[in-house]
Amino acid sequence: MHDHFILTNGIVTDGFSFLIENCRIEIADGKIANIGDASDFKSKDIKIIDLKGRLVLPGLLNPHHHLYSALATGLVPIGPTDNFTQILENLWWQLDKTLDEESIYYSAVSGLMQSVRYGVTTLFDHHASMSRVTGSLQLIEKAFRKIGVKGVLCYEISDRMGKNFLQSQINENINFYIKNMEDPQIQGLLGLHANFTLSEASMATIAEQKPEELPIHIHCGEDKADFDYCVEQGYNGPVHRLFEYGLLSENSILAHCIHLSETDYQLLQKFEPIIISNPESNANNNVGLMNIEKIENYLLGTDGMTGNILGTLRSHYLQRNGNLPNAMKILFENPAQLTGRYFSNSGTIREGNAADFAITNYIPVMPINLDNLLYHLLFGVQGKEMFMTIADGKILFSDNTLHTIDETEINKEIKKVVNKLHERFYE
Ligand SMILES: [Zn+2]
Repeated sequence: MHDHFILTNGIVTDGFSFLIENCRIEIADGKIANIGDASDFKSKDIKIIDLKGRLVLPGLLNPHHHLYSALATGLVPIGPTDNFTQILENLWWQLDKTLDEESIYYSAVSGLMQSVRYGVTTLFDHHASMSRVTGSLQLIEKAFRKIGVKGVLCYEISDRMGKNFLQSQINENINFYIKNMEDPQIQGLLGLHANFTLSEASMATIAEQKPEELPIHIHCGEDKADFDYCVEQGYNGPVHRLFEYGLLSENSILAHCIHLSETDYQLLQKFEPIIISNPESNANNNVGLMNIEKIENYLLGTDGMTGNILGTLRSHYLQRNGNLPNAMKILFENPAQLTGRYFSNSGTIREGNAADFAITNYIPVMPINLDNLLYHLLFGVQGKEMFMTIADGKILFSDNTLHTIDETEINKEIKKVVNKLHERFYE
């Protein structure tokens, strides 16, 4: 049963093609039934929500996240974290070894709860759980369905568990992808951890078994170690290695793209894959900055750091000293296109499309238009929690309350699971 209601008196924008003040949106059957002027609105016998001049955005996309990290807050790394490899070994790889069935599920629930508070209605998750590969994506899928967010899921294949576990990781991705091919809410991708955790033999096996139309989602050139490994194997960089194995296409999702060669940049220009920059994570891991002069067209992800995309925009802006020439394309236009590739009639605010909205708690009083929208987002919205988040016409979050779950009860469960998980982490 879908809700039928009207949002009125909002400032509505898709971030790149229109901005309407004093706007009214009718939502019915999960879709945007009608967009018009609030002043010529004649009352119908349906629920009306007065937004009191708040800024309304399309539901936000997080194209690169790791929900398995959601319960890591408070963990102290078990060894030094002086470089990227040590951070992986002493924190993330120790964590993903200890995840079990219940902690995979509750990590996803917890990460999604946070994401919804920040207006995210579509999320690409890159999952790892070394001791529970088979069926792990289905546990995460269950969390997406419970919270009500659209998801594109994959399992990050690596050699970390040894040769015998390669096949189960490939199967987990491909089986999940096939099972969800026609699903309107959940889709699958082929997850690879990174070049430097995949041997030549493993890459060959993956390339051989990959269904042609199934895109990859990988960490690419995140740290210099990834680049150096590819050069040692005889390639001109991480993108070049993917290309040589036939894994590069316009649908490939490459996270980071920091340490690349000229050959790599040329291949990016030629194939135009989807590139996700994760500025907060890159700063946290001290791995450098993506070259935004060479890579102008990208999206912003959070890479397990947070569920807050608009906060990530603010970090990105400050890190680049206010020099973000393509900010609106990065934040709205590119996400709209990517969301639309996976979910038909989704990603843009248009009559007949899925009703996905991030309604900020910000009431602009200064003049607002498409040319100055960035500054309203940075200094008005400020990356704070939303007033309301709507996905497929359903109000998931409003009045500081999540509506698809009982947060108090879920938090009791999460607390029990976290205590056990953190104990295992230090064993
Ligand atoms: Zn990542």
